[in-house]
Amino acid sequence: MVPPAPPQPKAAADFFPHRDLLGVAGLTEAQVNYLLDKAEIYAAQNRRVVKRTNLLEGRTLVNLFFEASTRTRTSFELAAKRLGADVINMSAEGSSIKKGETLIDTAMTLNAMHPDVLVVRHQDSGAVALLSKKVDCAVINAGDGSHEHPTQALLDALTIRRRKGKIAGLHVAICGDIVHSRVARSNIQLLHIMGAHVRVVAPPTLLPAAAANLGVEVHHDMRRGLRDVDIVMMLRLQSERMQGSFVPSVREYFHFYGLDYEKLGYAKPDAMVMHPGPMNRGVEIDTEIADDISRSAIAEQVEMGVAVRMAVLDALSARLPNFAPMNAQ
Ligand code: ASP
Repeated sequence: MVPPAPPQPKAAADFFPHRDLLGVAGLTEAQVNYLLDKAEIYAAQNRRVVKRTNLLEGRTLVNLFFEASTRTRTSFELAAKRLGADVINMSAEGSSIKKGETLIDTAMTLNAMHPDVLVVRHQDSGAVALLSKKVDCAVINAGDGSHEHPTQALLDALTIRRRKGKIAGLHVAICGDIVHSRVARSNIQLLHIMGAHVRVVAPPTLLPAAAANLGVEVHHDMRRGLRDVDIVMMLRLQSERMQGSFVPSVREYFHFYGLDYEKLGYAKPDAMVMHPGPMNRGVEIDTEIADDISRSAIAEQVEMGVAVRMAVLDALSARLPNFAPMNAQ
């Protein structure tokens, strides 16, 4: 006889009542704080010699990446392993996707092997949400086209909260290739949920047509856009998503929109510089600023990426099918 399922850890499931994390849209301030508070605990754990716990012992996470990634894929792998799960990494290269298998067929094939969590990155906006409807396991969006990258926004929020002690009321400028950026879209939504004021700074060609609908202040002049901000968030020029030329030349782009000390001087004296990576040094950011640890939080963003992904896996674990907490009697 199959033993009865152990009692669900009600409190956790009630705090974070989601099976998947497909985007920032739909999260409440309380849910974001719940994730960030959990991530703080994991950030401390990750600085200890022994980083492993057994919350996800026996569980399997599949990283399914249709687009290149360094930070996101590695940190999901580390996060899952530090929680005791088994991890499989799959990329489009070397899989049957190269032979023409569709996204849904690939998802159904993986689903038949009973993974507990699928972490998916795909070049098409909406592809991860579509896939989530076809599988039984939890699905985490690791970036879909120019739509959302929720764990990036969460790790950015955690980095800001740690450095500035709060998020509400801060002025944040998101600068550069807004139109192609899922990081910008997720960050704008999350920062609004948390009560920050957001500006976007970009040439008109790199802004979405409906930029005003994002509820942000729009600036085309970098010096004006950076005036008195607490946070300067730089974005990569995403040439892989550009058909034709969106900027006259890289040199000219750096001249007008690249972050150097002179332009940074318009922000608050203690303004913090962020970049989701990968960076194009000398294109959107001066290489000295990127490495200036008194201004740049880029390394801390990467560190917080692991902690936030552990927190997300932890929160979703409350709703995994047949969840059996290790300490359940
Ligand atoms: N790594 C981030 C992303 O995947 C930012 C970037 O690629 O520029 O969206």
